[in-house]
Amino acid sequence: MELASIQNLTFTYPEQETAVLSDVSLTLRPGDFAVLAGPSGCGKSTLLRQLKTVLAPHGQRTGTITLEGRPLDDIPAQEQAAKIGFVLQSPDSQIVTDKVWHELAFGLESLGVSNTEIRSRVAEMASFFGIQTWFHLETNQLSGGQKQLLNLASIMVLQPQLLILDEPTSQLDPIAATDFLQTIGRINRELGTTVLICEHRLEDVIPMANRLLILDKGKLIADETPMETFDILRNLDHPMLL
Ligand code: ADP
Repeated sequence: MELASIQNLTFTYPEQETAVLSDVSLTLRPGDFAVLAGPSGCGKSTLLRQLKTVLAPHGQRTGTITLEGRPLDDIPAQEQAAKIGFVLQSPDSQIVTDKVWHELAFGLESLGVSNTEIRSRVAEMASFFGIQTWFHLETNQLSGGQKQLLNLASIMVLQPQLLILDEPTSQLDPIAATDFLQTIGRINRELGTTVLICEHRLEDVIPMANRLLILDKGKLIADETPMETFDILRNLDHPMLL
C-alpha cells in the first residue's frame, strides 16, 4: 500500500541549464515518519513542493507524482487542500484570519462543512494541541511558537492523510522548536498521519522517524531507516556527518 509516490522526477527551474532534482523516486506508506535532510541548496524545498500542486514551482518536470494511486494533477485543489497539509518556515505568512478560533475553523468553512461539525472538530483539535487557553486571543497576540502550532492545528482540523513540513522550526526559539516537533511526533503516533519533514534539528526528529532520506545535489542518495542511512553516509564519508 502506498499513500504518495514520486517516480523518476526530474525538475529544472525556468532558464536554468541543470536540473535541480534528478531522477528522484520515493514512496510514502501510510503511517511513515520520513525525514528529508541534505546540504543547503540541494533541492529539499523544491522536492517537498512537488507534492502539492498549488505550491509546486514553475519549471520543466518529467516523471510522475501520485496520491493514493491517482496522478496529483488530476486531484482537484480542494481535495488536495484537505488531504495534504503543508507547514512552511514562516509562522506569520500562513495565518489568514485575526482570531485563533476563526483560524481553526477557516479551512473547514472553505470546504463547506456544517457548523456543528466545525465546532466539534475545532474543539477536538484545540484540546489535542492544548490551545484552549488562548482560543479567544487575536492571532497577532501570539508568540512565533504559538503561531506555528496554530498553523499546524488549523491543518490537522482538516484531517489530512499527509503532513509535509518544510523547516517548520527555523524561526522558533529552541524550546518552542522542541515542543513543536514533539507535537509532530504525537500526530504521527496518535492520529496515524503520514509525515514528511525537512528539519535541521535532526536530534529531535530522528528518534521519531522510521525513514531518513538524504538528498544531495538533487539526487536521493539514501532512503532507509535512520541507522541504515547513517551507515550509508559513513561508507560514503559524507560531509553531512561532520
Ligand atoms: P534546499 O531546500 O535544499 O535548501 P531549494 O529547493 O530551496 O534547496 O533550492 C535548490 C536549488 O534551486 C538552489 O540552488 C536554489 O538556488 C535553486 N532555486 C530555488 N528556487 C529557484 C527559482 N525559483 N528559480 C531558480 N532557481 C531556484
